[in-house]
Amino acid sequence: MVLQDLGRRINGALNDLTRSQNLDEKAFDGMVKEICNALVESDVNIKLVASLRTSIKRSVDFKELGPGVNKKRVIQKAVFDELVKLVDPHAEPFKPKKGKSNVIMFVGLQGAGKTTTCTKLARWYQARGFKACLVCADTFRAGAFDQLKQNATKAKIPYFGSLTQTDPVQVAREGVDKFKKERFEIIIVDTSGRHRQEQDLFDEMVQIQQAVRPDQTIMVLDASIGQQAEAQSRAFKETADFGAIVITKTDGAAAGGGAISAVAATHTPIVFIGTGEHQYDLERFQPNSFISKLLGMGDMQGLVDHVQSLKLDQKDTMKHIAEGVFTVRDLRDQLSNIMKMGPLSKMAGMIPGLGNMMGGMDDETGAMKLKRMIYICDSMTEKELDSDGKCFIQQPERMTRIARGSGTSVREVEELLTQQKMMAGMAKKMKGGMANMQKAQAGM
Ligand code: GDP
Repeated sequence: MVLQDLGRRINGALNDLTRSQNLDEKAFDGMVKEICNALVESDVNIKLVASLRTSIKRSVDFKELGPGVNKKRVIQKAVFDELVKLVDPHAEPFKPKKGKSNVIMFVGLQGAGKTTTCTKLARWYQARGFKACLVCADTFRAGAFDQLKQNATKAKIPYFGSLTQTDPVQVAREGVDKFKKERFEIIIVDTSGRHRQEQDLFDEMVQIQQAVRPDQTIMVLDASIGQQAEAQSRAFKETADFGAIVITKTDGAAAGGGAISAVAATHTPIVFIGTGEHQYDLERFQPNSFISKLLGMGDMQGLVDHVQSLKLDQKDTMKHIAEGVFTVRDLRDQLSNIMKMGPLSKMAGMIPGLGNMMGGMDDETGAMKLKRMIYICDSMTEKELDSDGKCFIQQPERMTRIARGSGTSVREVEELLTQQKMMAGMAKKMKGGMANMQKAQAGM
């Protein structure tokens, strides 16, 4: 089951429960069961699911919930918190230091996405002001160096490798020494893919590790790895003691639950997730954001990060959010940025409510929907655009005019204003700073 489907199913179970007339223990048990089934079908380890079930049940005690308590909120919060715990390793990820050479070594199975992710990560750091470079220590796979060279050239990242040297330890050492002398701050070492059974390659991985003494070793896991994730990641952990995980191909049709289980089995943080084949398709992993997005609550933090990395002009909106304001114009700017940012299905999930609204639409239909929303904004006056949207309550006839002017329907105008109102509500809650963002998203 694809992660998005998992989110939809969990959300569906939550919504069914909160809509039901009798929000009693029996209905609650049914919801927990449905959530657990969905997780198991997504390849999350069955033991983890059992413990999640116990924890959710423990945190919602029906006897304790008085008549004045908002049961829906309590249940939603319990489910949200337990899902976050499931993907939260409770370990701080490595933070590279500026002005120092930080060596990062990649390990993982062949085809997991190591070489692709190395470039993405180098570019990610480069975009944040680090001097980053790449070393190809994969002398095993023919064409590995060429692939890295091509990716690095496209992303304008300096690289090192050899077409003639066959000893990967030697290449890794030479490359890292060279870049250290040149004062590079992020030196990423790509190694050849391994399988658990190949002892030689595992030994070689340890030798490279000893030669370059990485500040961080990252294991790359393909989201489709399924139930073997736990055993594979344990084998790598025992040999290379990696300190972080990157899950790739989360955009694909994979279940993704196996990867979640790998995190729990190794108590290692997922630091990034790969969301596509291009160099920009890398997102920082944050348990709260990940679960918010999974449940269709949006991921404002992810959106802010992504927008910042693209260096789009966002000054006004960011300033507004910091002030607790979100105008119709802010929504219009966000919508048009989304169109520039990449596959819609990916971006829409980051905006609270929009993912649900566009759920199930293909990218083309989704793009059309967004365009219509932009047409609506473009039929408004400057004053209306800069407003908080409340002026339309006093002048509902303006909605009819705008619908006519933009070739849309009044219902679509209303939908857009609902979207803006929701964002404005969140911006207000977030006024205290980004730290409160996740609480705002979870409706807590
Ligand atoms: P390596 O053998 O571990 O170095 O794997 P590669 O970096 O060569 O990647 C194997 C394949 O996976 C390539 O076709 C990549 O384009 C693809 N790939 C890597 N990461 C992602 C991702 O996040 N999403 C998608 N869709 N494909 C990816």
